[in-house]
Amino acid sequence: MIGELVAGRECGSCNVCCVHLTIDDPELQKPQGYRCRNANPDHSCAIYERRPKTCKDFYCGWRTLKWVRQPLRPDVSDVLVRLQFEKPQGEPPPQLGVVFTLLTARALKADGLAETVAAAVAANVPVYLHVPGPPGYTASQARINDVLQHAVLTRDKAGVLDVLRRARIVAQGGKRTPIVLKNMSATDQA
Ligand code: SF4
Ligand code: SF4
Repeated sequence: MIGELVAGRECGSCNVCCVHLTIDDPELQKPQGYRCRNANPDHSCAIYERRPKTCKDFYCGWRTLKWVRQPLRPDVSDVLVRLQFEKPQGEPPPQLGVVFTLLTARALKADGLAETVAAAVAANVPVYLHVPGPPGYTASQARINDVLQHAVLTRDKAGVLDVLRRARIVAQGGKRTPIVLKNMSATDQA
């Protein structure tokens, strides 16, 4: 399900990944929810040519998966789709999972959200709902394939969105703890 970058899709003025991801690279550390110190006001990267490997290697699901619907550009939709590779019990190859981060309540109204989630569930891809905590805190994440099965099988778009809405409410009540960055020294954190 992964190929090259999807033709015709560019990051443009989006910099959701520079704000909403935790980066724990030897060259750059920041917890989710905080804008990277290298992000310019126009959302470009001040160190683009020498940005850390973590940044060079990252593209979100909107850039890499054709079946992620066009309107789900992260800065427009408040939905950040990410790939997650899982090692099933036993032998590889690793299995692709897809994480849907709903950045705000507005994400539930994004065009194409229900259809994209349903496509992943119908294809038996592990699907996770990810709800961030406050800046600097951990998120809640849960696999939602099972609870979505009925709505997907019956092509019930409203049902898919209702499951997502309820799962988001449950996730918001989850336990949050401050994010600990491995690459940040005790001195840096003081
Ligand atoms: S979240 Fe996706 S579209 Fe937005 S800047 Fe990052 S890779 Fe580009
Ligand atoms: S270094 Fe550049 S690409 Fe990486 S998070 Fe910061 S602004 Fe974004």
